[in-house]
Amino acid sequence: MPEGDTIFRSARALNKALAGAIVTRFETAYAPLVSVDDDTPVAGRVIERVEARGKWLLIHFSGDLILVTHMLMNGSWHIYRAGERWKRGRQHMRIVITTANYEAVAFDVPVAKFHTARTLERHSAIPKLGPDLLTSGFAADEAGARLLARPDEEVANVLLNQQVMAGIGNVFKSEICFACGVNPFRLVGSLTPSEVDCLLHTAKKMLAANVLDGSGDGIVTYTGARRTTSNADPGARLWVYGRRGRPCRRCGTPILMRRQGMGARSTYWCPECQPAPAGIAITGLDQPTRRRKIGCS
Ligand SMILES: [Zn+2]
Repeated sequence: MPEGDTIFRSARALNKALAGAIVTRFETAYAPLVSVDDDTPVAGRVIERVEARGKWLLIHFSGDLILVTHMLMNGSWHIYRAGERWKRGRQHMRIVITTANYEAVAFDVPVAKFHTARTLERHSAIPKLGPDLLTSGFAADEAGARLLARPDEEVANVLLNQQVMAGIGNVFKSEICFACGVNPFRLVGSLTPSEVDCLLHTAKKMLAANVLDGSGDGIVTYTGARRTTSNADPGARLWVYGRRGRPCRRCGTPILMRRQGMGARSTYWCPECQPAPAGIAITGLDQPTRRRKIGCS
């Protein structure tokens, strides 16, 4: 069975290739999907995003249509450039989604179904998203409870987990940890109540400050370049993300970067402002030289 990690990577690759594009053609070997496509054609819709939830892969189309696939034993999604030759035989094809630039092909996926937001919510086997940080009634208590239910996982990984709370991407993950002085590799179980409060509060604040239109369905429109510092200088928008080896904006120590969690996402942090738990050495891959702390706040 493909691991969660594999499905997560597939979802990322599909999202990168397909998100924002218009479906020019939809083809499937499954009669129930054909019948939905006949009634409410997939072609002409915009692919809003692709996400992994547990072992499920969800493709969201405009107009409240969600294609849900489960890969089970042998299923896989491939992405091809328009006209490129498939690596598997046509008899294994179950679904093809074509856009101007790409063809996404599902081979041997044994479970494939269309949902709306409402039917998806009722489908008990598919993990639900956590509280949405962009809704005005963000349920911080519930998000906190979901966070604390994962005491043995690393903080940054849990922040990215959309089933804990929905809305934090890879950039904000590092920025939120920095703002709260929390080392991203610490285990959730080591957080103090005030650190948990800080993470939730900062997540909500940073996302709200960077979003023009939070429609509440997970579709995020950024106002432009993401910004977490209050510095108006475009070169100083972020505290740590993308700044490996450059001096921390608070203390001057070089920022570190290391790959973390499913999909090996990049994590940036300041080793002075966000100290590692006692007895655990966490360093960046390139071991930059450490500098003395200069008035870290
Ligand atoms: Zn620092």
